[in-house]
Amino acid sequence: MTKLQSEAGLLPTEMFHFINGIEVESSDGARGELINPVDETVLASYSFGGVAEVDAAVSAARSEFDNGVWSSLSGYQRGCLINKLADLVERDADLIADMDAVCIGRVPMEPRILDLPNAIQTIRTSAGWADKIEGRTIPTPGYLGRATLSYTVNEPVGVVAAITPWNTPFMITCWKVAPLLAAGCTVVIKPSEETPMSALHLAKLAKEAGIPDGVVNVVTGSGSVIGNALVRHPSVDKITFTGSPAVGQHIQTEAAKDFKRVSLELGGKSPQVVFSDADQDEALAGCAMGIFFNQGQICAAGSRILVQRDIADEFAQKLADVASNIVVGNPQEEGVQMGPVCKKAQLDRVNYYIREGVAAGASLLAGGECPYEKGWFVRPTVFAAATNDMAIAQQEIFGPVATVIPFDDEQDAVEIANGTVYGLGATVWTSDVKRAHRMAKKIKAGAVGVNCWAPIDARLPWGGVKQSGSGRECGLSGVMAYTEEKVITVVTD
Ligand code: NAP
Ligand code: MG
Repeated sequence: MTKLQSEAGLLPTEMFHFINGIEVESSDGARGELINPVDETVLASYSFGGVAEVDAAVSAARSEFDNGVWSSLSGYQRGCLINKLADLVERDADLIADMDAVCIGRVPMEPRILDLPNAIQTIRTSAGWADKIEGRTIPTPGYLGRATLSYTVNEPVGVVAAITPWNTPFMITCWKVAPLLAAGCTVVIKPSEETPMSALHLAKLAKEAGIPDGVVNVVTGSGSVIGNALVRHPSVDKITFTGSPAVGQHIQTEAAKDFKRVSLELGGKSPQVVFSDADQDEALAGCAMGIFFNQGQICAAGSRILVQRDIADEFAQKLADVASNIVVGNPQEEGVQMGPVCKKAQLDRVNYYIREGVAAGASLLAGGECPYEKGWFVRPTVFAAATNDMAIAQQEIFGPVATVIPFDDEQDAVEIANGTVYGLGATVWTSDVKRAHRMAKKIKAGAVGVNCWAPIDARLPWGGVKQSGSGRECGLSGVMAYTEEKVITVVTD
């Protein structure tokens, strides 16, 4: 395999599990391959693990949590180490961005301007929380006639299994790893088969930062083997998962068997609601970014664009013009704005829904299925005059396909916006401040942006309602998700 050179340096072409502070090969020597979405050549190979590697990684995480140096550190000491990790991620930011970009065929500038700054912010913000995980004192009348003092402590939940997707891999891994470290937990990361590179790099940087061996472990391989083994492992206390609703449901069901704690960040079919009183240029730019950024492979992609009827045709045509002008090609080449989708299965999925949209009678204003030759390319696609019962309005496509649905008034907009099984993000475009608050209140979602799409930040909680998941990442909620509250009552007289 030839060396993989990015602008920021050499990327690894051979990867191994990272368990208890060292790189290890699978016990049976099995290896998997990373395929370049641009030309379908082999980019790199990685250890394809099994149950033995999961056992070794969980055992390292368990023993470091139960008896290791990590469990003896104060919150302040943990925070200092996490801040060192942030420094190292900052040092290697461009290299890490390139790792993710190459693995999924993304324009390198995107992770450089969004994922890495957000990841670094998340690590630093989490470091700051490490010594501020405070309990409460709770006044009670006492117990059985005796005066008492009751107080709570939030203790780390234990060994966490972090199972992550491929779409914005490093950032999502940091949303899990940084707060769980702040809380005092240890972790076994199972990255997506498509994107093991940046998670392995994070584990190595954790070691370089002085975080003890066994705290951050990575096992690479398939979800059906490693993911399942982690979910069923008796020494894992909590699973934090980001991925598809189908796998999330499977995980929740399996975890229920021994009452493991579970946080789920799942899919979405997020509405962008454009009123005719909105700043049309801003709304257009926000809607285009919301569905075409990262080839639409974003959990909060604004894939349902609800436009007030009097401006719907004009708005849809302008969005189609933006889509038609996006330069699709090899993301490593100058001037290219959009690369391929991440894998062949994703290409097939997107093309399937494009055919569904055409068959259902939505009008195809831009893009559409393109002939498959080499590389998993999709054209930015806009459907107009769609209705909310169509598959392209209900199913998460996870590709650059916008579905424009006209609405009449606020009530109609709310009904359509809430008319899916999902509830992750939502955006309201309006210049009427009262309407903005009314809509934000009525839309069922974990996060609503007014005149902005998906405003993520390390301090803001992120997560979904309905089938978009349960639990929150980021912010203080994201740290507390890795703790268990204990109440202690002491007789004081
Ligand atoms: P996926 O197929 O569900 O995979 C996610 C992770 O789960 C991967 O690491 C996968 O491993 C693993 N996995 C697969 N089967 C498993 C099993 N039986 N047990 C345990 N783990 C298993 O999702 P994806 O295709 O990578 O990502 C796309 C989905 O993620 C979309 O639905 C998107 O909306 C969602 N997402 C949500 C958010 C959010 O914040 N809410 C953010 C990003 C993405 P393999 O790679 O080895 O199959
Ligand atoms: Mg998968």
